[in-house]
Amino acid sequence: TLIDVIAGARPNFIKIAAIMAALEAHRAAGGHLRARLVHTGQHYDQAMSQSFFDELGIPQPDINLGAGSGSQATQTGAIMIGYEALLARQRSAACVVVGDVTSTLACALVSQKAGIPVAHVEGGIRSGDWSMPEEINRLATDAITNWFFTTSEVANANLRAGGVAESRIFFVGNTMIDTLLAHRDRFRAPAFAGDLHPGRYFVLTLHRPANVDCPQVLSQLLHTVCQAAAGLPVIFPVHPRTRSVLAACGPMPVTLRTVDPQPYLAFNFLVEHAKAVITDSGGVSEETTVLQVPCLTLRSTTERPETVALGTNEILGSDPDRLRDAMRRVLAGQWKTGIIPPLWDGQAGTRIVAALGRLLPA
Ligand code: UDP
Repeated sequence: TLIDVIAGARPNFIKIAAIMAALEAHRAAGGHLRARLVHTGQHYDQAMSQSFFDELGIPQPDINLGAGSGSQATQTGAIMIGYEALLARQRSAACVVVGDVTSTLACALVSQKAGIPVAHVEGGIRSGDWSMPEEINRLATDAITNWFFTTSEVANANLRAGGVAESRIFFVGNTMIDTLLAHRDRFRAPAFAGDLHPGRYFVLTLHRPANVDCPQVLSQLLHTVCQAAAGLPVIFPVHPRTRSVLAACGPMPVTLRTVDPQPYLAFNFLVEHAKAVITDSGGVSEETTVLQVPCLTLRSTTERPETVALGTNEILGSDPDRLRDAMRRVLAGQWKTGIIPPLWDGQAGTRIVAALGRLLPA
């Protein structure tokens, strides 16, 4: 039984690593599911794509749709055209999409219109913020999803409130955490980290349009972070979206260390030993929750409220005073430690594959 596994952008690769590993174990144990790994080509360079395949042992994609970069509509259209042609050549029995990126929605649309059931890994989460493309992708994907593989009780409740039958909700845990736990003992320091001391630096990541599209906004944020860091270095792996705007930001504080997007094992080494992580990423707030590292989120909403309610995350919005106050508390050692959310135990991929095996007959 052929199932498509769709991946297009960095956070997708981390999540499908766990699903592909579970599918491989299923095959090795004589299971009937066979994966066709479809890379949409949304992220395509070494630092945003291939490095994750290499480090996490993800098999090379069976097909690359080569969608490339472009506007939301350009990318969505290119992925849809490519995936429709693939299904016309060889249908699959189900389409597994993960997360909330353009590829997630584009392939769900094509698959469901072809009469092929859609499984959404990380379904049901909601930020309520329609200004974020990711929230539109979540809402639209979930509207045409057959089977929801969820990461939290909040996601389950959101789906129930939307009238989704219990039989379509599978509370499995978090594939991004599967990957984190599976590779934790391989985290390793990047070469530039030689002079960094554990707990004596911050990690910063930014790529949401509201934070990085306007040079004035980005510049003010970076200055605030560095001032509040009280002389400690701020390691800033710069997302491709942020890179060009950064060039227009003028001179930066000397404590800001801009580096390329980091490979997974180096990035999470930096996170694990950081004083705190300052970020607008959703996935990173899950990893910091499990690694028990303070996380300061520069957004006004989150689709992952368990990282706040149970974990180490705090939502700070865009107010520089709140950010300064939070960093002062971190430096003073006043931060919650938190607990690990239910089922974030490294077994989500295995649960997903077991459920798919039951849903899709041999
Ligand atoms: N990540 C990485 N290198 C970096 C920055 C992030 O490997 O330089 C990983 C991080 O550990 C997490 C994922 O990329 O697993 C998060 O991706 P991103 O922040 O792009 O997406 P989001 O979760 O916000 O959708």
